[in-house]
Amino acid sequence: MDRYQKPRLRMVDSQIRSRGVKDPRVLKAMEMIPRHLFVDNGLADQAYNDNPLPIGGGQTISQPYIVALMTEAMELKGREKVLEIGTGSGYQTAILAELADQVFSIERMATLAASARKVLDSLNYYNVAIRVGDGTYGWKEESPFDAVIVTAGAPHVPKILVEQLNIGGRLICPVGGRISQDLIKLVRQSEAVDDVKMTDLGGCRFVDLIGEHGWKN
Ligand code: SAM
Repeated sequence: MDRYQKPRLRMVDSQIRSRGVKDPRVLKAMEMIPRHLFVDNGLADQAYNDNPLPIGGGQTISQPYIVALMTEAMELKGREKVLEIGTGSGYQTAILAELADQVFSIERMATLAASARKVLDSLNYYNVAIRVGDGTYGWKEESPFDAVIVTAGAPHVPKILVEQLNIGGRLICPVGGRISQDLIKLVRQSEAVDDVKMTDLGGCRFVDLIGEHGWKN
């Protein structure tokens, strides 16, 4: 129990459940994880509002509903090995750590990776490995993954990430222009890397995915 428990439960009810997210494991994780610890102290009172917030370096912690929508689309049951591109504050990472077995997360900004690591350690999430680097290459040594989530906007789905997916694996990625994107869910169907099923989960606005297989800086 902490002083933000009520706003947190209200957030899940009014922003997430009410918009159609149903997976009970996702809802429970978001009712439990102290989102206010992943933002600066001065922003803690805004942590449960219906919008993204700045986390430094021109980056943001995503809107709670978008986090829930993307996580639900990953269809996690508890035994998965997952890859996240764009650790940011570490909030989405914590949710993945609750819902999957092993989490590998890549962040290009060392300062963000370090502060995310600190909060995740303080909450005893020891099933998370964080690496600083260009996540558009994926994490080949640890592949294949059951699910991949990209939490920054890409010009196209990096093929190299599809190659690192298991057959039947899910990849969630915002794809489009630099101002707005569509949230794409792709499910790998076979060994052939182009054999994928794609669904558009709706419009979104993310900061840029910057790297070799993303936007050039
Ligand atoms: N999921 C995060 C959270 O809960 O706080 C929000 C992520 S923020 C919207 C996007 C993050 O992606 C930023 O921290 C940014 O530095 C990172 N990023 C952008 N391009 C990247 C790349 N090629 N590899 C790894 N991280 C990248």
